[in-house]
Amino acid sequence: MHSPNCRIYWGINRRLFLRALIPGAIASILQSVPPARAGNTATALVLSCIDFRFLEAERSFLALQNLTNHYDWTALAGASLALNNFPQSADTTTFWDQLDLSYQLHHIKKVVLIDHQDCGAYARQIDPLLSQNSDRERQVHSYYLSQAYWAICDRYPVNVELYFVTLNGWVEPILPMARSDRTLKEKID
Ligand SMILES: [Zn+2]
Repeated sequence: MHSPNCRIYWGINRRLFLRALIPGAIASILQSVPPARAGNTATALVLSCIDFRFLEAERSFLALQNLTNHYDWTALAGASLALNNFPQSADTTTFWDQLDLSYQLHHIKKVVLIDHQDCGAYARQIDPLLSQNSDRERQVHSYYLSQAYWAICDRYPVNVELYFVTLNGWVEPILPMARSDRTLKEKID
């Protein structure tokens, strides 16, 4: 809790701060905000891992999909793994909360899930050596991406797209495994 003096101090300095900014910096900040779109809608919600190494490739990929300024973005460690209670069940709850808000507020039509190669979350949760076997790594990601795919489809009338980004920046589409495939778990063990 701020003391009254603290509030006064902040108030004075905030006015000075804002005066210093106007019109230059604030004008440029306002200009960088995309114009409001009809109905306040976005095309998609994107879920990616937090890993900084892949953010540029992911942004570029989304731009190539004509999604720039048309998506909400949530980043959780492990991306698809976050829908499987990693590192806490609260992270799964967080994802559903964000998806629900994106759906309610921006009327999104699809969810884009982006996993990536050499993911530290997968190493921690599944196998520290996972990234050393690229075939198995893809299979494990496909499994959890597919789990996420079906979980989202069960709850929301949206399209779900799955992707896997490699260390050299390639973004590969992943087809969801069939829901009826009861051997999914065995395939990755
Ligand atoms: Zn990661």
